[in-house]
Amino acid sequence: MSLRSERRRRAKLLRVLHRMQGGLCAGCGLPVSIDGDVPANSPLQPSFDHYDPAYLGGAQTVRNGLLKHRDCNGRRGAQLPNGCDMIWYWSVRAKLARMYGEIDHLAPPDLRHFHF
Ligand SMILES: [Zn+2]
Repeated sequence: MSLRSERRRRAKLLRVLHRMQGGLCAGCGLPVSIDGDVPANSPLQPSFDHYDPAYLGGAQTVRNGLLKHRDCNGRRGAQLPNGCDMIWYWSVRAKLARMYGEIDHLAPPDLRHFHF
């Protein structure tokens, strides 16, 4: 995939998550802008947070992501999703299911996150 199409794919990914999350960061709950008006070095840059961490095989897809400010994303680091991440994640998944009929994919992405 070319760099340009990869950049377009990432921009679309952030747009979809932005819409599903009502324009709010899944880390702090404050608005996050995806309009390209945030300075490149700002901690408020929009970023893709891998719900299932990349080192566990989590992909950069709409089914494995949350939109967060860069610093909010960095705070979680390589940790597994916390309770707030899970609430945001399942809220996004439920909206995607309603809008795009993704009900078949509404299964836990990884049972390792559930400790019964
Ligand atoms: Zn934030």
